Amino acid sequence: MSQKISSIRGMNDILPTQTPLWQWLEARVRNLLQGYGYGEIRMPIVEHTELFKRSIGEVTDIVEKEMYSFDDRNGDSLTLRPEGTASCVRAAEEHGLLYNQVQRLWYAGPMFRHERPQAGRYRQFHQIGVEAFGMTGPDIDAELILMTARLWRDLGLQDKVVLELNSLGDSEDRARYRDALVGYLSQHADRLDEDSRRRLERNPLRVLDSKDAGTREVLRQAPRFDDYLGDEARQHFAELCAVLDAAGVAYRLNPALVRGLDYYGKTVFEWVTDSLGAQGTVCAGGRYDGLVSQLGGKPVPAVGFAMGIERLILLLEQGRPELPEAADLYLVSTVPPTASLVLAEQLRDMLPGVRIQSHCGGGSIKSQMKKADKSGARWALIVGEDELASGEISLKPLRGGGDQERIVRTDLAERLAALMKL
Ligand code: ATP
Ligand code: MG
Repeated sequence: MSQKISSIRGMNDILPTQTPLWQWLEARVRNLLQGYGYGEIRMPIVEHTELFKRSIGEVTDIVEKEMYSFDDRNGDSLTLRPEGTASCVRAAEEHGLLYNQVQRLWYAGPMFRHERPQAGRYRQFHQIGVEAFGMTGPDIDAELILMTARLWRDLGLQDKVVLELNSLGDSEDRARYRDALVGYLSQHADRLDEDSRRRLERNPLRVLDSKDAGTREVLRQAPRFDDYLGDEARQHFAELCAVLDAAGVAYRLNPALVRGLDYYGKTVFEWVTDSLGAQGTVCAGGRYDGLVSQLGGKPVPAVGFAMGIERLILLLEQGRPELPEAADLYLVSTVPPTASLVLAEQLRDMLPGVRIQSHCGGGSIKSQMKKADKSGARWALIVGEDELASGEISLKPLRGGGDQERIVRTDLAERLAALMKL
């Protein structure tokens, strides 16, 4: 026998036992987004490497060490997308969606980062992302956050997540703060970890994100961003907070929240949980007014977020929401398929939307009933020679008790509709 080939580390198969929860979550998110007037956009999974370098920033974890980049056969450097915002901006700009208009967009799909795999952190993971273009005010920032708060309520996760909020000011505020931070950190450079020392020179705000204990200790006394916010950013942030207060959405101000990507300014936020160990952020985003022009377009204000599906699934699994069972009916039969499969087709015509699993492959009634039970279906429909001869069919409840009954074929649709409360 030749050696088996396994999947790539950190890239997971999502099995039929798991997909019902994924589908349930995805459907809820899709409904929510439609309800707020967001339209879906689908982008390719591969882009020019330059797109991510220019948007996410050269001195970030993602670009420095996490990207899956390769040369294609023409020698172009391509990258499996590590996130969706850059691609979404690229696509929207390329198709003229941003010219003099407002756009509310969302997308879903796999993202790729070469990280150390662990629970809640994978090399292929999935995000649902939302981006709103063409709106400068804090109202749209607030809408995005209210929308996510509603989603957590919909999913029953509202008690598991907390909103953290910060403002990174405008580019001048950030420049002034950067100077202050560099001044302070330089005095304590010997106590910083190696990554942070390097970042101090090239991208000092990133140091705030460090997980190193020594660096975190130094950061406790560091200058705080809120002391450097200009009037405009301060006002923007205050108005955002006022909407959240009025809508009853609680938040925690976190002056160290800077996010792992360079393009953010003004509002940044994260929904975090303490139920997933170190992988605590389930949804993160913020305003990125500078990105569209950084990628070559005319300036367009924008704000967005992305949520990590695997982490939400892990949270949902802790509470186990009720999911619809596998099938409504499992059709057990000892008659030829010319009779049983045709009956199944007739039932599908009569009862649209009813989920029927037909047993294929023969076997005794007893062994078929075992499979029916295992399938998770609510009822077994049984057609043997007897039933076939008398124009009847047997119906046996598989869940929640009740007696087997024999029903005349012509009454079957009506009886099933009543049972299923269709
Ligand atoms: P973290 O700090 O956990 O590395 P991040 O700041 O790199 O997260 P973003 O780029 O903001 O994450 O991505 C948005 C969301 O996507 C995260 O909040 C998280 O839920 C999810 N996510 C990011 N990286 C991964 C990963 N490697 N595996 C699974 N989910 C991830
Ligand atoms: Mg990360």
